[in-house]
Amino acid sequence: MKKEFGFILFDNINEFEKYLNNEKVTRKISRLQVHHMSLPNYHTWNTTDKKIYKNNRELGRTKALDDFGKNKWNYKDCNNHYIAQHFNIFPNGKITTGRSLNSKPIGITGWNDYAICVEIYGDFDKDIMTSSQRESVIALYALLCKKFNLKPSTNTIRAHCWFTSGGTYLGDYYKNKSAKTCPGTNFMNFGNSRLAFINNFYPLIEKYLANHNTNKDTAKNIKLVKNISKEKLNIRSSPNWNGKIIATLNPGDSLTYISGPLSAKGSTTKMYKCKNNSYITASSRYTKIITKK
Ligand SMILES: [Zn+2]
Repeated sequence: MKKEFGFILFDNINEFEKYLNNEKVTRKISRLQVHHMSLPNYHTWNTTDKKIYKNNRELGRTKALDDFGKNKWNYKDCNNHYIAQHFNIFPNGKITTGRSLNSKPIGITGWNDYAICVEIYGDFDKDIMTSSQRESVIALYALLCKKFNLKPSTNTIRAHCWFTSGGTYLGDYYKNKSAKTCPGTNFMNFGNSRLAFINNFYPLIEKYLANHNTNKDTAKNIKLVKNISKEKLNIRSSPNWNGKIIATLNPGDSLTYISGPLSAKGSTTKMYKCKNNSYITASSRYTKIITKK
């Protein structure tokens, strides 16, 4: 994570999730907008941005978009930011913040109230989205759905091109009526149409959410070996009572259980195998397996 120009760069999706969980959003949020930047596109990313911003491309470009907004519409949020969107997703999958979530975006005429505006770096009329960016796009929309309790659907997640430039909702991309092609006719290789979103985008977000919840449950129900004695217990590097002691476990503390009890060299007392190739006594006088809730 890095902060500069009043914006945050997240190096991975876990950092983003933590940030999002802690955000206090007082605006009602019920709409998620989908945009591509069009310009800058992947060519810009690999040439101009690389040259100007060097190893700070994400925050450098975010600042440039903010400056652009200041000149163009001069509508600032509570943090003195003028950038239109709340989040930017870059070709390498990294995410930066933009406007305050408590400030209305400048994304889709007629659909900015209650909305979060996300701009995906690239021109997906012609650029092929990288897998890193694709993963971040799915994860970001999923985590926004989770945070604001939204179910992915045509009511909650809409492409910019499903509207006219005047803000009339068309419900789909129409070449001659839509404001733009945004987020691109080849967005994520399935495109910008209503059916593409229903058949591909929403299910990908749902799938991410389902896996995310399962992983959380597994993490919760993890098994631990707890030291129930009043003594420090030796943790060894192999199932051998004469083996190397790598650490000790204080009374009341636990290790993550992997397997066992299993036979150990040097004594009839068995051992538990724990995380990171560590071994500890399985004697019921000293340890007990518990489930982390
Ligand atoms: Zn757009």
